Amino acid sequence: MHAGESAVVEQIYDDVLRRNPGETEFHQAVREVLESLAVVLARHSEYTEMKTVERICEPERQIIFRVPWQDDSGEVHINRGFRVEFNSALGPYKGGLRFHPSVNLGIVKFLGFEQIFKNALTGMPIGGGKGGSDFDPKGRSDAEVMRFCQSFMTELYRHLGEHTDVPAGDIGVGAREIGYLFGQYKRITNRYESGVLTGKGLAWGGALVRTEATGYGAAFFAAEMLKVRGETVDGQRVVVSGSGNVAVYGIEKVHQLGGTAIACSDSSGYIVDEKGIDLDVLKQVKEVERARLDVYADRVPSATFVEGGSIWDVPCDIAVPSATQNELDGEAAATLARNGCRYVVEGANMPSTPEAVRIFREAGIAFAPGKAANAGGVATSALEMQQNASRDRWTFEHSEARLAEIMRDIHTRCHQTAEEYGSPGDLVLGANVAGFLRVAEAVHAHGLI
Ligand code: GLU
Repeated sequence: MHAGESAVVEQIYDDVLRRNPGETEFHQAVREVLESLAVVLARHSEYTEMKTVERICEPERQIIFRVPWQDDSGEVHINRGFRVEFNSALGPYKGGLRFHPSVNLGIVKFLGFEQIFKNALTGMPIGGGKGGSDFDPKGRSDAEVMRFCQSFMTELYRHLGEHTDVPAGDIGVGAREIGYLFGQYKRITNRYESGVLTGKGLAWGGALVRTEATGYGAAFFAAEMLKVRGETVDGQRVVVSGSGNVAVYGIEKVHQLGGTAIACSDSSGYIVDEKGIDLDVLKQVKEVERARLDVYADRVPSATFVEGGSIWDVPCDIAVPSATQNELDGEAAATLARNGCRYVVEGANMPSTPEAVRIFREAGIAFAPGKAANAGGVATSALEMQQNASRDRWTFEHSEARLAEIMRDIHTRCHQTAEEYGSPGDLVLGANVAGFLRVAEAVHAHGLI
């Protein structure tokens, strides 16, 4: 079936491997999308002729720069900054900045590549990009983070603009960092250009629901998946890995929908609280104190803290990996399947390894890839841009209703596309094909650029 197209896709993948040596996460993300595309090329020979897939696999622009800064004791540090402006067919480059010691070009490219299709799936006018630095904010004072952000923006500002490239947060970049970045952009450019960054503070151009959006969106997406199978979130046991922004607000919405989130994790280990995670305590520990999860267990008698170990050992109905890429491997997937897990909804970007996804498929577990399930964050960023452009401010209720509608539409689009292309129930194929079709149509229309 589609032998000719499969060969084309294999050739494209081989070229990506050859031209981007050592970028394993980027290879993985590309492979996962390409595996879905033979069926599309079979219906659209123009995309083969015009090398549309090859062009989408090549970033439009990649920026790498030095970020020098001084810590509180006066020691000098040199970090590396990145911004990969991957595709602007649908709108200005849009995607977060990640500050984490693991950040390198391959990681930024995998994230930027995913972002193209995710952003396309939202139906909003946003292209795909991603950036960040190998700076580690952990243990750094506010003043150190501020100096780093100022140095980072002193280079990056020249590449940004509300119609050019609009960064936001990701791991290690939240409202504090966006504040410092925005301040420096405003100072250098002498422009109050609200729409140049999203995830801003509510007092100065930020949008209601942006903070909650990725987690809420993933929960809304889960609800849609369950609905197709005649179920609801009510009464389900949910395990959410991570304890950052996505996890915290994913848990909040799961609870509002009647489910019980019983476990979450950080880099030190995980907590299990059979009564359901107490969100006030979790927010205090992680958002205010920026402390480790054992502090939660010290404060909540019904909770136990497991140092190290795998959170996927905790039996659940729904698993929501919301920490980072490749956190859920084949072994963890097999454990989840053995323990009766029926749904996996990716809150993070590419948290499941290809082996894990294969095991979910074999076990009949319904699986939602991150580019569909976690698109609520960036979709709400687009709503923030919309509010900034019209100097308007929407209510929480209105914004949340828009988010719910967008997540419903993404689910429907992925579900229907999977059926149309002969793989009913396969949301990976549905998301890849639906996202690709929207981008490819625009790329094609713009000519050979
Ligand atoms: N970093 C988030 C993501 O992975 C949000 C990006 C944005 O809001 O631009 O989609």
